[in-house]
Amino acid sequence: MMTPQQYEESLEKLNYCVYMLGKKISHVASNPILRPSRNAVAKTYEMAQRPEHEELMTAVSHLSGRRINRFTHVFQNSRDLVLKSKMGRLLGGHTGCCFQRCVGMDALNVMSIITYDIDRAKGSSYNPRFLKFVSQVQENDWVVDGAMTDPKGDRSLPPHQQADPDLFLHVVQERKDGIVVRGAKAHQTGPLNSHQILVMPTLTMREADKAYAVSFATPADTPGITYILGRQSCDTRKLEENAMDNGNLYYGGHEALMIFDDVFVPWERVFMKGEYEFSGPLVEKFTAYHRQSYACKVGVGDVLIGATQTIAEYNGVEKASHVKDKIVEMNHLNESLFCGTLACAYEGRAEASGTFIVDSLMANVFKHNITQYPYILARLAQDIAGGLMVTLPSEADFRSPETGPLMTKYYQGVKGVDTEHRMRMLRLIEAMTLGAQAVGYLTESMHGAGSPQAQRIMIARLVNMKAKQILAKRLCGIEPLD
Ligand code: SF4
Ligand code: FE
Repeated sequence: MMTPQQYEESLEKLNYCVYMLGKKISHVASNPILRPSRNAVAKTYEMAQRPEHEELMTAVSHLSGRRINRFTHVFQNSRDLVLKSKMGRLLGGHTGCCFQRCVGMDALNVMSIITYDIDRAKGSSYNPRFLKFVSQVQENDWVVDGAMTDPKGDRSLPPHQQADPDLFLHVVQERKDGIVVRGAKAHQTGPLNSHQILVMPTLTMREADKAYAVSFATPADTPGITYILGRQSCDTRKLEENAMDNGNLYYGGHEALMIFDDVFVPWERVFMKGEYEFSGPLVEKFTAYHRQSYACKVGVGDVLIGATQTIAEYNGVEKASHVKDKIVEMNHLNESLFCGTLACAYEGRAEASGTFIVDSLMANVFKHNITQYPYILARLAQDIAGGLMVTLPSEADFRSPETGPLMTKYYQGVKGVDTEHRMRMLRLIEAMTLGAQAVGYLTESMHGAGSPQAQRIMIARLVNMKAKQILAKRLCGIEPLD
């Protein structure tokens, strides 16, 4: 396993083609807007080095028998899945944001299942090829960025009927030595902190969409791949001299539009090509895994609850019964979320390949709650924090000899609490519920791993309605009791 320093060094060798705020970025690691997101991924390496977190952060590879980072692991039992949920909460708490490495972990697991299933049905040999890639990921301790979501153009049309054929990523050329692909993946989390990109199809496809049913891995800096960075609320605060106004001083996430302009992929890195019948199961299983991964938001919720309790104390309202009750409500919701991510893991089962997968119904129920509860937590945090969270002048004003003493005097809360500490805590709550980290805590909770309606569709499909009807019919004498 790499140390955080080795991780940083390993990325220095990569030459990403990336644009942000209208300019080409020459060096990702030193860019102040991108830096916090790299820190967050580096945390997944740092925590894996700590003996007290070994059980959660690492696993023993079923391929090599060696200890590896859990983010590169193929789950072998439901205990592995439970530890994955706990790892998500742990890291969410330590970073207070998206640490970006889960999408790749989930992609590795789903492709270990799907390549096996394709081989069984078609006599192909994708699975051994894929496991070779997994071995390399584990040996090198790479960050893999799973890439699923295409731009999709007109949502009412399948890939092959789009006015522009590139609105879904597809194979444009087949060569003796590999394939050439064109298209894009949108809302891509953390690619500029990744070594490899693992591409998967985005929806259920039919025969006419064969060229779009493609999965492959490629280095994140492969020629032809361009990234255009997504804006985040308050992102340019990171360019300011003073850091306090960012709330979370150390960590963050990033998203980008990832464009593949005729990118060549050698055959040994192609894991699906044209097997459209498997695109549906692939998406379904991937989303089940990735919905479980939202355990991260439970950890981020821990931070927000801690911040809310602290600001209540700084404001002198922590003993008010409604404040106490609101904080109980926040804890109740956050722990209810944790129940969901654990439950789907405990109910995990083996696929034909031997890889363990979460219970899909429970994972969907959990993620559906994630689209709601963090918003309630954010509302309660804002309620208790008070309006100062958004009317507070800047840190520059606080440091200024003219205005600083005035702010110290008039923004004083409870006696004995430093005004600056009160400001720091308010900024953290602002960042998490309105600013740069609100992407990670709120919008990502809503749309990441599928928007709420996607989970409702799955819940409707997965519940055993017939069985429930029989239970009712028996008890009122429509059906016999036994
Ligand atoms: Fe992982 Fe959560 Fe970020 Fe998704 S949002 S990549 S699950 S930390
Ligand atoms: Fe996500």
